Amino acid sequence: MSALPRQSRFERDDEVVVMKFGGTSVQDAPAIQRLIEIVRSRSAVRPIVVVSALARVTDQLLEAGQAAASGRLGAALEIVRSIYVRHEALADLLVGGPDYGKLDGRLREEFRELESLVQALECSRELDPKAQDRLLGFGERFSSVLMCEALREAGLNAVHLDAQNCIVTDDKHGQASPIWDLTNQRSCEVVGPVLERNMIPVVGGFIAATIDGEATTLGRGGSDFSASILGAALGAGRVEIWTDVDGVMTADPKLCPDARVIRKMSFEEAAELAHYGAKVLHPATMAPAMRENIPVYVLNSQRPNGEGTEIIARASSLKRVSAITAKRNVAAVEVSSRRGIDSVLLGQVFAAFDQQSCAVDVMAASLGHIYLLVGSAAALPEIAAKLRDVAEVKWETRRALICLVGENIRREPEVASRAFAAVSDLDVRVLCQGASDRTISFLVEESKAQESVQRLHRAFFSHADGAPDWGGISSAFCQAGSGC
Ligand code: ADP
Ligand code: ASP
Ligand code: MG
Repeated sequence: MSALPRQSRFERDDEVVVMKFGGTSVQDAPAIQRLIEIVRSRSAVRPIVVVSALARVTDQLLEAGQAAASGRLGAALEIVRSIYVRHEALADLLVGGPDYGKLDGRLREEFRELESLVQALECSRELDPKAQDRLLGFGERFSSVLMCEALREAGLNAVHLDAQNCIVTDDKHGQASPIWDLTNQRSCEVVGPVLERNMIPVVGGFIAATIDGEATTLGRGGSDFSASILGAALGAGRVEIWTDVDGVMTADPKLCPDARVIRKMSFEEAAELAHYGAKVLHPATMAPAMRENIPVYVLNSQRPNGEGTEIIARASSLKRVSAITAKRNVAAVEVSSRRGIDSVLLGQVFAAFDQQSCAVDVMAASLGHIYLLVGSAAALPEIAAKLRDVAEVKWETRRALICLVGENIRREPEVASRAFAAVSDLDVRVLCQGASDRTISFLVEESKAQESVQRLHRAFFSHADGAPDWGGISSAFCQAGSGC
């Protein structure tokens, strides 16, 4: 990512606060009332509100698209109707008078467009990534229009802005990346004047567009990324991620009820955590914040007075485990070649994965073998066929990548030995994954993911005052690809 100068006149404006509200924070009328009061509490500064689709709507849209593309138009339209009814009921509850009429008209127009798209999918019998981006973007379009009117009804001076006019991406549908210079420029042009008039911009997260105006999305959970993209473009003083947990925690509380909030962490730790499966942050969120040194706060919209987690540049000098993550349902791939591993083969392997848009999470190499982890096995038969003349490709599915994250933990041999002692009977496989000192990770059977996280959590966080502070340096913990 190139560090491009911001065009904004809000150059490092500590008053601009980007506030992102996830699906559960906009899921029903009480949640939206809380959102309104949280935004009101920031009205002395300049808030920019980024909203996700209402909880479950993105999954429902996907389901509707799949139904239509497989010829089940009735089922698809029924799902669309249920989404419409939910939005209309909220509009009715939250907005009154002539503004309700305007909102109702706008929602009807958007839903007619969605219905036409669903009908077109039934005709074409195909839900390609381009059409899928158009389809899924409706969730954020609906919610942002609704949230804007709800804020206005509550007396806040909100203005709806189209994210597709702000965030410009490449055409990698389903997982698009911003074109930074254009995004910075457009975001400043579109959002800047609204902030100058002391109004509150309301933008749908997750959605963007190519230079040609084709709809794209930033990957599932991408509204967090939208918030940090806009924060970086506008030179915000902070980015707030409002969600349904008290902050970034020592483990996913759904997997490990003993998990507790991490008060402070570095950008790098948070980025590793997100990369290794902590759903609380989209993996790309940290990059723009890090580049512009903008603190990110993760906060609970159900408990707005909580401290949450502060994510900042400071890297702790402590060698300790901050959190344990699990990336579930990954596939472990082994690529073997009798002629050995060289740069030509590596190029061919990565080209084959790239052509199938199969993102590689972790890589390790040993004599004659390359080990890779991927999030889905769907493209692997095609990749294996493509590489048939140069290598043999085998894979195992239903694996989970368990990861310990913390500053400098790789330099501390006792962290690794304590971790492996906790899970040694679970058929653990070690992988070496790059140069980071902040992660130790290994594979287990998917069915052992939760137990692994819980055991590790007990091993590292059973002390009332947090994990102990370790000392020492490890050099040879990692055995490249052993046992995969
Ligand atoms: P939102 O809809 O607000 O974007 P998400 O569902 O995407 O919320 O992310 C919040 C969820 O992330 C939490 O409910 C929690 O189950 C999960 N999660 C996974 N790992 C962690 C972690 N380390 N700390 C906090 N939450 C986590
Ligand atoms: N609504 C999108 C999703 O469910 C984006 C987001 O919630 O951040 O993936
Ligand atoms: Mg999310």
